[in-house]
Amino acid sequence: MTTMLAEQELAQQEVQEEYVAIRVQDVHRIYQLGENRVHALRGINLDIAKGEFVAIMGSSGSGKSTLMNILGCLDRPTSGDYFLDGVNVAQLAKKELAAIRNRRLGFVFQGFNLLARTTALENVELPTLYAKLEAEERFRRAKHALEIVGLGERFDHFPSQLSGGQQQRVAIARALVNQPSILLADEPTGNLDSRTSVEIMSILQTLNDEGLTIILVTHEPDIAQFARRVITFRDGKIRRDEMVTDRPRAAEVLAEMPTLEED
Ligand code: ADP
Ligand code: MG
Repeated sequence: MTTMLAEQELAQQEVQEEYVAIRVQDVHRIYQLGENRVHALRGINLDIAKGEFVAIMGSSGSGKSTLMNILGCLDRPTSGDYFLDGVNVAQLAKKELAAIRNRRLGFVFQGFNLLARTTALENVELPTLYAKLEAEERFRRAKHALEIVGLGERFDHFPSQLSGGQQQRVAIARALVNQPSILLADEPTGNLDSRTSVEIMSILQTLNDEGLTIILVTHEPDIAQFARRVITFRDGKIRRDEMVTDRPRAAEVLAEMPTLEED
């Protein structure tokens, strides 16, 4: 009887493990700047299941970007563990980190970070260059990613010929082109007006509905409400972790918002 119970518990644990996309255990990050030590993360514990849509909030300097850089394998914790799809990435070498980053993770930043002299399509194709793909397959994937964000028609435009919202959509397409399992977005609507921000959130909600795990940093409560779960940081620690009730649908909110012409 006791053995059966133990087996059952083990099975449950295994099922749970299978659904964990991200597990962060007692992560600290200390920046050493000459004489100064900045303790940016002070013991972060966090599990994120596959398919979640998490918003991270908190005032400037609270450690949000530091955590995102670690989650995105752009940086490593000073101490603690980070499991991504069950692999402890805190212990991987730089080259292995780069491979994981390119295959499993998509990034979107506040500043879009598009190459100016490069078309939307070429920008989106960039992350595929690491994979050994035929040019035709690259084109097909990049075009498809642009179609997902509603920019299929504008694939040959340069960033300067696109609005801020369109540029951010190109950046989302670029993040999606290698079919990542997790999308990390650090203040993706920080440079956008409110209507365009809701448009971006609508795209993210649709992607999440289709199973993509999304982690988004924002300091706007209205934007965070579009996620399923909101985590609040303060002074390098998680202070609150709550599920969103009555989550609004960005597409519906958009329908109620005045268009620019009406404004
Ligand atoms: P947030 O994204 O919430 O605004 P950050 O994670 O960027 O916060 O920063 C957390 C703390 O770590 C701040 O005190 C910031 O000044 C410091 N910090 C961030 N990046 C670095 C760095 N590369 N070197 C030194 N200190 C840093
Ligand atoms: Mg930041």
